[in-house]
Amino acid sequence: MLPAPHFSAFNPPRRILMGPGPSDVYPEVLAAQARPTVGHLDPLFVAMMDELKSLIQYAFQTKNEMTMAVSAPGSAGMETCFVNLVEPGEKVIVCRNGVFGERMRQNVERVGAIAVLVDNEWGTPVDPAAVEAALKANPDAKFLAFVHAETSTGALSDAKTLCALAKQYGCLSIVDAVTSLGGVKLKVDEWGIDAIYSGSQKCLSCVPGLSPVSFSPAAVEKLKNRKTPVQSWFLDQSLVMAYWTSAGGKRSYHHTAPVNALYALHESLRLLAAEGLENAWKRHQDMHLVLRAGLEKLGLKFVIAEASRLPQLNAIYIPEGVDDAAVRARLLKDYNLEIGAGLGALAGKAWRIGLMGFGARRENVALCLRALEEVLN
Ligand SMILES: *Cc1c(COP(=O)(O)O)cnc(C)c1O
Repeated sequence: MLPAPHFSAFNPPRRILMGPGPSDVYPEVLAAQARPTVGHLDPLFVAMMDELKSLIQYAFQTKNEMTMAVSAPGSAGMETCFVNLVEPGEKVIVCRNGVFGERMRQNVERVGAIAVLVDNEWGTPVDPAAVEAALKANPDAKFLAFVHAETSTGALSDAKTLCALAKQYGCLSIVDAVTSLGGVKLKVDEWGIDAIYSGSQKCLSCVPGLSPVSFSPAAVEKLKNRKTPVQSWFLDQSLVMAYWTSAGGKRSYHHTAPVNALYALHESLRLLAAEGLENAWKRHQDMHLVLRAGLEKLGLKFVIAEASRLPQLNAIYIPEGVDDAAVRARLLKDYNLEIGAGLGALAGKAWRIGLMGFGARRENVALCLRALEEVLN
């Protein structure tokens, strides 16, 4: 027998999360998650799942039937899109302007497909002209994949234009909306997005660990016509959807859904719908402007040019001579405030201040500005 370990219960402090995610969770969402667990096929639970599906459709602005939440974080939503739609040997144009575009490339190659890279400098949006050149040069490409809101730098790309280009050249679009959903304008049907995934823990202000996903009818067709089976059993949408749809009044077991986490997602999306998507987008923009004014007063400079700046992720250069890790440690210790470090090419050079979901409010902005001012002095 191993000796029994004795620990006290884990009681984290209440941090203010202003990094790249997870974001501050709505108190209502935390309360929802603590409600009694019911069976994953309980009639009351599956009725809640039907509501959840329409809430996800609202957030994405889509009527897509194949809309659900993957029982795993945003990265699994990414993988869901690639493993279901892309077959070995197919060509995918992958736009890379930060960490998550690079992760898309790795997904494409692990599927056994060919990634054609369109590289844009870190901190710039994806360049539609470069994408069009790649589409022209690769008439056999089947997909265009890009990140709408690149969290590693804070750059917003023009998803509408990029998806129109994909369509024009006969490609399906695969879009990463992990950080964009709920924070900036996003219209899946109007923009003709074919496969999209997001995450629960960014602008939805839900607990981490779920990934809303939606496939257009054209994407569903592609999945149906596969010559090879999806190599991931767990992420195979044709199997998962038997649990997410009550077509014919029957739902069947696929895996035990994370029941309480789905209560949380239902509550966060219900709050988003109650606020209204357009109001939520505006609130993110308004709070970004308040933060920007304060940061500029402190002499801090943005990494991203104004035209493509994400309101929900503000990357700012660390002033010269300032100890990156020491500042973040003091913010955490003295103010219970978490801001993000730089990632990849921006490691040690920038901080990333998130204004996501419930975190995009005036008191958070004020606290962050005051704390930065005190610590930097
Ligand atoms: C956070 C993030 C992901 C990954 O989501 P996880 O929930 O951490 O797996 C993917 N893409 C973007 C743009 C992100 O910001």
